[in-house]
Amino acid sequence: MTQSSQSTLDTSFYGQPGGLKTLFFTEMWERMSYYGMRMLLVLFMTATLQEGGLGLTVASAAAIYGLYTGSVYFMGLPGGWISDRLLGGQKAVWYGGLIIMIGHIVLAIPSDETFFIGLILVILGTGLLKPNIGAMVGMMYSEEDKRRDSGYAIYYMGINIGSVIGYTVCGYLMENQGWHWAFGAAAVGMAAGLIQYKKTLSNLNSVGEEPAYPLSEKGKRTSWMVITAVLVLIATITMMVMNGAITLNPVAVAEYVAIAFTVIFVAYYASVFIFGELSPNEKKRLIALLLVCIASACFWSGFEQAGSSLNLFARDYTDRLVGSFEVPTGWFQSLNSFFIVLLSPFFAALWINLGKRLVSPSYGIKCAVGLIIMASGFIVMFFAAQYAASGLKVAPYWLVATYFLHTVGELCLSPVALSAVSKLSPKRFAGQMMGVFVLTYSIGNIISGLLAGNFDPNNVSQMPELYIQISLFSIGIGIVILLLAMKSRFWEIASDSNKEETKAATA
Ligand code: GLN
Repeated sequence: MTQSSQSTLDTSFYGQPGGLKTLFFTEMWERMSYYGMRMLLVLFMTATLQEGGLGLTVASAAAIYGLYTGSVYFMGLPGGWISDRLLGGQKAVWYGGLIIMIGHIVLAIPSDETFFIGLILVILGTGLLKPNIGAMVGMMYSEEDKRRDSGYAIYYMGINIGSVIGYTVCGYLMENQGWHWAFGAAAVGMAAGLIQYKKTLSNLNSVGEEPAYPLSEKGKRTSWMVITAVLVLIATITMMVMNGAITLNPVAVAEYVAIAFTVIFVAYYASVFIFGELSPNEKKRLIALLLVCIASACFWSGFEQAGSSLNLFARDYTDRLVGSFEVPTGWFQSLNSFFIVLLSPFFAALWINLGKRLVSPSYGIKCAVGLIIMASGFIVMFFAAQYAASGLKVAPYWLVATYFLHTVGELCLSPVALSAVSKLSPKRFAGQMMGVFVLTYSIGNIISGLLAGNFDPNNVSQMPELYIQISLFSIGIGIVILLLAMKSRFWEIASDSNKEETKAATA
């Protein structure tokens, strides 16, 4: 019996397999620590030494921030590989969580020297945890199980409940207790996630217990040696940067890294396609999945303006006074997580109902629609920016409407794309393909930074132009993906009737 068919009848978590509960809460706490700490990062780096910060320039801090968020998701690639070939998902998530927790503990130490060591640990740990926890969600469902999409929608809600907790707790501690208390809270959050993971691990049954496609003993030994060598190299470079033996310009590094991530994505995808010994149906699925990945990278390039250009718009051009109360700038960013939590149950029900009526739109179509809805949020910003350009401070509901549309777009695309990766990837590459997919987050984050670099708070007349360009570009890509998805939806469906492959996967 397969792992997936074992849990087909398990409906113990709101009609979903009990293992989803374990993964939901683990990811909730991990995201609490991630977003709570991420919110502080630029503020901490740009705060002066007297304020307890690092005193960096905005340009360097933004570049380091971009490199950090990009690297976190980039490390999903080796993280997925380690799970598929060496550790299995369960251990990968456990060790990943431990490394993240240690990273946050290091960040909580009030010493500037250890700051980058803490960041690197969080990057390494998240690379191990994030793609594999996402892949394990999908492993709980059989090929035919219609609950997969709604399962991912519920899981996605956990991600965003975690974000709301992170923003609230770390935001409060930062203002009232100091930076390192807030970093410490992130460590406590991850610890809570690890404790509940260990306690409820049995819910997962055999899902992710063993690597899906293990290496030979010799291969394992060689791989661990290479991994150790890479870690030693990272440690040495970090030490040299900290001692001043090497000086790096974060802005230049960020530019090169953006190109490198895109090249690596293409090369990895192509090598799985060409050298992965795939059946013709598996190849068709991978092509269908490529559309989803392109939609995802474009989506995050626009969406991730939340922390940059939209944040600046909230600060400088939005009338934030409600009576005598001035709404803090940062609160606008948490609107997204708030809307997700509010709308997720509706979307979970929507996919189930559409499924029952046998009108489930394909993955490609849903993602294209998500991209177009997100882009329409920038049309709202185009009008808002025109008012701002005429010298007015605009009402907050412009940003609220934009974040609402961005969130509806995100719910059509992001959990759906996770589900698509788990369904359309060859089983033996499940973790790695999730890692490749998570790379689209990296690419999106970095492109978004480059786009936001064109946002000049002192040159307000350019703003409408920037927003309309982002919008039209994304709508254009969305329409192309929609048209291609009309074809690729057959390739997605072709996989369902692929009996031979199902047999191979269950053997
Ligand atoms: N909010 C989602 C998550 O944390 C997606 C993040 C992203 O930048 N793509 O998983």
